[in-house]
Amino acid sequence: MGMGTGVIRGHAITLRRFLLTFWRDARQGRGLKRRGGGHGLLDFFRKPERGSEPTITQDFRTDGLFTVEYPDERLPVYERFRVLPVLVYDTEDGNVRCTSCNICARVCPPQCIWMTQARSPKGTVVPLPEDFYIDMDVCMNCGLCSEYCPFDAIKMDQNFELSNYERHQSHIYGLQDLLVSSEYYAKTHPEAWSSSEEATERGKVAKKKDQRLQKALAAGRSTPAAKPAPQPAKA
Ligand code: SF4
Ligand code: SF4
Repeated sequence: MGMGTGVIRGHAITLRRFLLTFWRDARQGRGLKRRGGGHGLLDFFRKPERGSEPTITQDFRTDGLFTVEYPDERLPVYERFRVLPVLVYDTEDGNVRCTSCNICARVCPPQCIWMTQARSPKGTVVPLPEDFYIDMDVCMNCGLCSEYCPFDAIKMDQNFELSNYERHQSHIYGLQDLLVSSEYYAKTHPEAWSSSEEATERGKVAKKKDQRLQKALAAGRSTPAAKPAPQPAKA
């Protein structure tokens, strides 16, 4: 078989399989629905409001080939899907959990975390971060910082929509860029948040936090201001 004929035959086989997937779905009564229950075919011309896009859930019952029309539609991400670290503050009181102990910076394999510890007006060390930086271009998303943090303060986030037009300054995240509320974390990680392991850990952290607060107040410092809670990435 000549090369030209082979290419045409290959395309014909692909086309046949593509059409058969829709034929099988149509025979089983799923012909007008997108696989997993997203838009119906008739909805393709109606653009949903931003933020109310249907979530596509693939399942094993349908064969039809389809493409998720990102960003109008998004596949859900699994709870353990991780991208970059964030620092958690407690929603109730706005206090940052991090004590600037530097453990995450030490265990980070590519050494992309650095920080400075807060100091009181008298120059004594306060267990809070004054600055906290992560170079997001260097982070390899391993999650070790989160595993080793003794204060349950650094967690892996699921937001993957991070691209922009600038490669340098804006990829080094500072304290205010990294802060997320415990409420946000509970929404993006519902299983972990409600697990007994994390609940116990939160109890321990709350005790330590009280001690840190007392120290910070004694040193005449308030905790760094927390930014408003961001919304979880659309799943
Ligand atoms: S995030 Fe955790 S490990 Fe890192 S400095 Fe803060 S308290 Fe220590
Ligand atoms: S996820 Fe890994 S590479 Fe990224 S900051 Fe944490 S320890 Fe470092």
